[in-house]
Amino acid sequence: MFAVAIDGPAGAGKSTIAKKLAEELGFIYVDTGALYRAIGLYVLRRGGDVSSEDAVAGLLTGIKIDLAFVGLEQRVILNNEDVTGKIRTEAVSMAASAVSALKSVRAFLLNLQRHLAEENNVVMDGRDIGTVVLPNADVKIFLTASPEERARRRYEQLIHKGMSADYDAVLKDLLKRDYDDSHREAAPLKAADDAILVDTTGNELEQSVEILRNIIKERM
Ligand code: C5P
Repeated sequence: MFAVAIDGPAGAGKSTIAKKLAEELGFIYVDTGALYRAIGLYVLRRGGDVSSEDAVAGLLTGIKIDLAFVGLEQRVILNNEDVTGKIRTEAVSMAASAVSALKSVRAFLLNLQRHLAEENNVVMDGRDIGTVVLPNADVKIFLTASPEERARRRYEQLIHKGMSADYDAVLKDLLKRDYDDSHREAAPLKAADDAILVDTTGNELEQSVEILRNIIKERM
């Protein structure tokens, strides 16, 4: 199996680029952030404290997450309910970031992610794919961009989906998530030693896709 690991902060363009490359390569695209989001949504719905290890660990036994691939599209199934659309709100983003700092949550999701890469050729994106989940990935990329540009992209994505959004609030949430994701003890956001760094600030989507496509082609 061939694995491409793409890590980086929120809004760097990981999912859009990874999806496109997976489609071209005929690989499945695995958006691991969606798994943390599904847990965040579940804990919010149950009224649990998203930053409490005890509270969340107690709720994990009631969670079953499945990923379904409809064509190349990943659907997230939480206890038999398709929550793919419901996990894309700012509230769920923040809850996902909080629960993702918990050791029990990371352990809970580790096997699921590894199993997917054992069974399929994957382009997998997240925060710790190259460092923890798939340390032997064939290609590791760390994708980043300036915070302002990432916030602008996230804002436009929300508006495009017909959701209401405020740019300053999106930027503030994104900076907090960046900080929390890179300062947590469990699997913090950081580039693997052998990752290739790509900064997409100022790039058109197709330019970034081209850069990654070339990096992957070289390794295949
Ligand atoms: O990528 P996305 O923004 O959907 O991720 C939501 C949150 O899930 C991130 O802010 C991060 O805290 C967490 N996450 C993680 N490890 C991953 C993927 C996402 O901790 N591999």
